[in-house]
Amino acid sequence: MTVRVVTIDGPAGSGKSTTAKAVAKRMNVPHVESGALYRALTLAALDAGVEFRGQRLVALARSLPVRLDLTPRGFRPEVAGVDVSREIREERVNARVSELSAIPEVRDWVNEVVREAVEGYPRGAVLDGRDMGTVVFPDAALKVFLTARPEERARRRLLQDGHETSDAEIARATEDLARRDEADSTRAVAPLVAAKDAVVLDTSDMTFEEQVAHIAALARNVFQ
Ligand code: C5P
Repeated sequence: MTVRVVTIDGPAGSGKSTTAKAVAKRMNVPHVESGALYRALTLAALDAGVEFRGQRLVALARSLPVRLDLTPRGFRPEVAGVDVSREIREERVNARVSELSAIPEVRDWVNEVVREAVEGYPRGAVLDGRDMGTVVFPDAALKVFLTARPEERARRRLLQDGHETSDAEIARATEDLARRDEADSTRAVAPLVAAKDAVVLDTSDMTFEEQVAHIAALARNVFQ
């Protein structure tokens, strides 16, 4: 059965989240950022000093709880009822999130939370991540795989996080992204790969507006 969701997957810094958010807004459906759940659980585990072991992490996620609150204005990642939107972008989270996201039990937990979140919205939703179109919603009505040159992705990530974009900073951020891409693409469970039926879009030379307009035009058929 084709489900009324649009999935936007791609590597770190490809602009998935900002694009997904803008497309969701235009279509008037919620946006679910799966990476925010991996990040929020990483943050919670670091703060609680909990080891990165599957069952331990899932128990922590359920007990705190770690969740995404979907609001009409977007989603809000929460740990024990506290908004952690800022904290989940910290460097210490970037450094450990790929390790945590390679754990099968953690992936099952995220997938369950994402599917449940979407169930509450029969009109559909826009989801972004690494495996939304390949694993979580293989029957999605529209799958997009966004990509861009590594230096361009690094520059966008720095700008988004409010950092300077000197050549040295871009070089350092490119290395950080390459390390995460490598870990995400080569892991055994749900590696980062475009779904066979995904629309692949290289956004290196597109403006943000162009990307959004392109995907929104495709998405219109899904949410009409
Ligand atoms: O999307 P973002 O870069 O914020 O995601 C942070 C990390 O979460 C990624 O580097 C990846 O390890 C993991 N992730 C994942 N599967 C998803 C979304 C994110 O493994 N669907």
